Amino acid sequence: MPRRAFRIGRSATGLGMFAVKPIKRATHIAAYRGPLLTDEESERLEARNNRYLFTLNSKWTINGSPRYNLARYINHSCRPNAKPITRNGGIVIVSTRRIEPGEEITYDYGADYKYFFFSKGRCRCQHCREKAVRKRLRLRKERHSAKTKRGGRTSARRAAGVRNNGKPPHRKSAPRSARAG
Ligand SMILES: [Zn+2]
Repeated sequence: MPRRAFRIGRSATGLGMFAVKPIKRATHIAAYRGPLLTDEESERLEARNNRYLFTLNSKWTINGSPRYNLARYINHSCRPNAKPITRNGGIVIVSTRRIEPGEEITYDYGADYKYFFFSKGRCRCQHCREKAVRKRLRLRKERHSAKTKRGGRTSARRAAGVRNNGKPPHRKSAPRSARAG
């Protein structure tokens, strides 16, 4: 890529990588660089909470901790706009869609990462945080309308309905914009 199309900046969860100009789909954004480690070495670092280990294959793991590895600043997302691919024996982060200037560049760190770091069932990526906020707003609104209308029983029944469905309920009341003062 001629001239860097990204910058490292502050994101909601620390530092992150952001596009500064449009990035076309399937563009090589950055290589995941760093010394190669054997299983034994990488296990030792993992036990010390090194968060920048990238499993290259059954034999080698990249230790992405060095600061020259700009790809280490790319945060995880459950709805990413880039992905890691193997190229020339290394890992390259490639865009999976067009990315607009100002957008944070993310990729899905994968199942292992989720297992180790989201053991409390909480992901802090943009997508999941927005989802959590929507859920909180919905619950707050339901609690509020239950209180002003009929009281506890309705809310209990409605909450049970939500559980059964497994899906978010339809928004019955006026759209949020109509209520916002
Ligand atoms: Zn997430």
